[in-house]
Amino acid sequence: MDFFDELQRHPLDGIRQRIAAATDADVRRALTAERLGLDDFAALLSPAAEPQLEAMARRAHQRTLQRFGRTILLYAPLYLSNECSNGCVYCGFSADNKIPRATLDLDTIEREARVLHDQGFRHILLVTGESPLRAGVDYVAAAAERLRPLFSSIAVEIFPCDTDGYRRLVESGVDGLTLYQETYDPALYDRMHRFGRKKDYRWRLGAPERGGDAGLRRIGIGSLLGLGEPRSEAFRTGLHALYLSKRYWRSHLSISFPRMRPADGGFQPLNPVSDRLFVQLICALRLLLPDCGLVLSTRESATLRDHLLPLGITQMSAGSCTAPGGYSGDGGEELHQFAIDDDRTPAEVAAMLRQRGYDPVWKDWDAAFLDRHAG
Ligand code: SF4
Repeated sequence: MDFFDELQRHPLDGIRQRIAAATDADVRRALTAERLGLDDFAALLSPAAEPQLEAMARRAHQRTLQRFGRTILLYAPLYLSNECSNGCVYCGFSADNKIPRATLDLDTIEREARVLHDQGFRHILLVTGESPLRAGVDYVAAAAERLRPLFSSIAVEIFPCDTDGYRRLVESGVDGLTLYQETYDPALYDRMHRFGRKKDYRWRLGAPERGGDAGLRRIGIGSLLGLGEPRSEAFRTGLHALYLSKRYWRSHLSISFPRMRPADGGFQPLNPVSDRLFVQLICALRLLLPDCGLVLSTRESATLRDHLLPLGITQMSAGSCTAPGGYSGDGGEELHQFAIDDDRTPAEVAAMLRQRGYDPVWKDWDAAFLDRHAG
């Protein structure tokens, strides 16, 4: 049974009713539970929990300190290509947007990576659209092989692969996968993804499992906040994380909270997520999944990122550029996927963390250690 089958056991109407039916007493019980059940989780996601947001934030903070201490892992995305054959209505890289396209060659990729390396990063996230001909598995694997000597951890945020594709990436030095389902609602998913390979909801939903089967050490999931109804999306994100953490217990699981940003194409969020609801979703997921990494990107403003820190965040991007070639100056403004909101340099983000009593971590893992001890 895969997660698709598991999800069929939780129809959307039932999830919505569960959330809507939660009472103040349910929220109080959830806040004292040592381990949350699904009814507790639904209560914390519900409107009934809104008056208890401060108590939720305190508990989320305690839980995070117990499990992670005061450390924040810093990483940077490196956009390799903005070519894409998909038609996602919300994305600036959608195939029918008339924008300049670029796929970096290996020398440019290395130049970009060296900028990030010089800034201190040892964790990097390689990002592409979906263009099997111009930027397929072999291309991403070649990039990872080139960058392997510079970084202790290389993750990918690319198109879904089959298990052999993920194995190929693992062999080339990739140890992490980030892949957002965007929305767990199949009908909405179908409307948002007008054409291309990404239209296949089930193929995308199964990708984290195929990555886990291939031996990826880090698996990251999330939904694009602003598409589906946010409370039920968060509930299904929690279900997905629980499923993956049981089945792939050797892999470290993380959840990202990408909130929709302005992009080419002018798409407006269908279900805007307020800052207050954003905080509630993060706290509820932290309390459901105390060991899970929670990731916050530069999509959010500097002020909000600083305030969200204590609620359970364990990883942050910094100094991000969403255009291929953007770090070394080879990429133009018009190549960006979306606008970022926190434009501080990595050094400034690290200084902010220290000032708030956190340790910025540039490297918490070294694949070379495994290589040396393999066999
Ligand atoms: S979200 Fe990804 S798959 Fe969709 S158009 Fe953008 S780059 Fe392509």
